[in-house]
Amino acid sequence: MQIETYIHAIPDYPKPGIVFRDITPLLANGDAFRETINTFLARYKDQGITKIVGIEARGFIFATALAYAMGVGFVPLRKPGKLPRETVSQRYALEYGEDQLELHAEDLTADDNVLIMDDLLATGGTVLAAVEMLNKLNVTIAECAFVIQLNELPGAKRLKQANIPYYTLCSF
Ligand code: 5GP
Repeated sequence: MQIETYIHAIPDYPKPGIVFRDITPLLANGDAFRETINTFLARYKDQGITKIVGIEARGFIFATALAYAMGVGFVPLRKPGKLPRETVSQRYALEYGEDQLELHAEDLTADDNVLIMDDLLATGGTVLAAVEMLNKLNVTIAECAFVIQLNELPGAKRLKQANIPYYTLCSF
């Protein structure tokens, strides 16, 4: 199955000049969604992964489905102010301004072997913030997994330069 077919290109969204890659048709198709999760499952099921960290919000969808299929825990990386217990946080730069990710410090320990998941890799700013945050907790990062990689943006190059292993199902 070509899962690319289920990812729609939406011109000029959220602003003029941007082509947004919409994953909701893939989610809405049971076979395509299952094939996506099964492809990740085949890759990660025997790698000793103990937790899957998903990035808010679309990363949660793939990370929770895969965590369930693998029988491992799911840990959400959230936007600021959403988590009630003690958090570790990481600021990162956006095109205009900055943002922040937080996670419950207790949810990961130094003996965890973690898979980081998001729907899409663009500039790499989000996932690199996630990596920095997990490094503060001394957990092992097995790999970063994405459904989509945007080739015109530097995320993949930045991950390679930082020696962070990553995997993507398709690229545009
Ligand atoms: P980056 O930090 O790599 O520049 O951007 C990746 C983040 O932005 C991901 O969390 C992803 O959900 C979101 N994102 C940026 N552009 C798109 C897009 O075209 N489609 C989707 N689905 N997400 C996007």
